[in-house]
Amino acid sequence: MRIREGNLRERMPLKGLTTFRIGGPARFLAEPAHVDELRDFCVLAQEEGWPLLLLGGGSNLLVGDGGFPGLVVLTRSLRKVKIEGYRIWAQSGTSLTALAVLAQKAGLSGLEALGGIPGSIGGGLVMNAGAFGRFLGDLVEEVEVLMEGKVEVLTKDELVWGYRKSGLEGKRIVGATLSLVPGDREGISREMALLNKKRRESQPLDKPSAGSIFRNPQGEEAGRLIEKAGLKGFRVGDAMVSRLHANFIVNMGEALAKDVVSLIEVIKREVEGFFSVSLEEEIVYAGIFEENEDCLVPGGPLL
Ligand SMILES: Cc1cc2nc3c(=O)[nH]c(=O)nc-3n(C[C@H](O)[C@H](O)[C@H](O)COP(=O)(O)OP(=O)(O)OC[C@H]3O[C@@H](n4cnc5c(N)ncnc54)[C@H](O)[C@@H]3O)c2cc1C
Repeated sequence: MRIREGNLRERMPLKGLTTFRIGGPARFLAEPAHVDELRDFCVLAQEEGWPLLLLGGGSNLLVGDGGFPGLVVLTRSLRKVKIEGYRIWAQSGTSLTALAVLAQKAGLSGLEALGGIPGSIGGGLVMNAGAFGRFLGDLVEEVEVLMEGKVEVLTKDELVWGYRKSGLEGKRIVGATLSLVPGDREGISREMALLNKKRRESQPLDKPSAGSIFRNPQGEEAGRLIEKAGLKGFRVGDAMVSRLHANFIVNMGEALAKDVVSLIEVIKREVEGFFSVSLEEEIVYAGIFEENEDCLVPGGPLL
């Protein structure tokens, strides 16, 4: 074991580690500085029978008010990046924004649309994050995952890419190689600025949120249906349907996970009632939401 003294902290708040600013504490929290340490924490969780949650940017997560009763591993210190020709290799905790900026500086195009997504490469790969018609999965050559204590390489074709789907759910991603194309630095920079402006104009970035709550149903936009159901501004406690983008729920101050869950139920019921469409969550639930409830671990069974 290479776990450093003091790097396994108990009863640590998770609120500040998610963009929603919601959720109870983690029983244990760790922040590995390198992949060996990440592996050791995964082994430790397995040996102790603790549920395990890998946390990147925390930008697609709703953590329950009862917290997470196992080990939460932050990936944000795993952020080495290497650029070789048109290929860019990054560790899973690297932020998409940082990577897009590095690619721009290297004159590599492909990440312009994804640089405004406030997540990590690991979270982005699991979710097959996408924006403005571009998807992270389209750029992938290989993904490195931890399997039985070893780093294994999965090629793009071994994974099942789809809308917010990757085939990586429940895996432990340590890094990925993306394939970009040469581009003009100034052009890339202009494109990034333009798309970020569009994002600022259409999303409530001044309030904590987890981005889009629901997946877009086939041929439709969840936000449009929610808006047409008259739910913009509808509120449960401090959780409110954004007036700017109806697929966002914003935290107006002290929202609890249970407020968000109740609001999600109202939205689903109303949209189903008006349009006979069943909305499905894009956000990931983690932890304990009700007393006496089993812990929810995204993408995988309890350890
Ligand atoms: C303001 C705002 C705007 C957004 N805009 C977009 C958008 O345009 N497009 C879009 O697709 N999404 C968007 N999102 C949602 C979110 O940013 C993306 O889904 C992002 O890819 C999540 O990455 P993350 O690192 O924050 O993941 P987290 O929220 O930390 O985790 C999400 C899931 O990924 C898992 N995970 C994280 N890291 C790893 C790893 N290393 N290995 C295995 N599993 C891992 C977690 O366990 C969890 O199941 C937005 C969110 C916000 C708050």
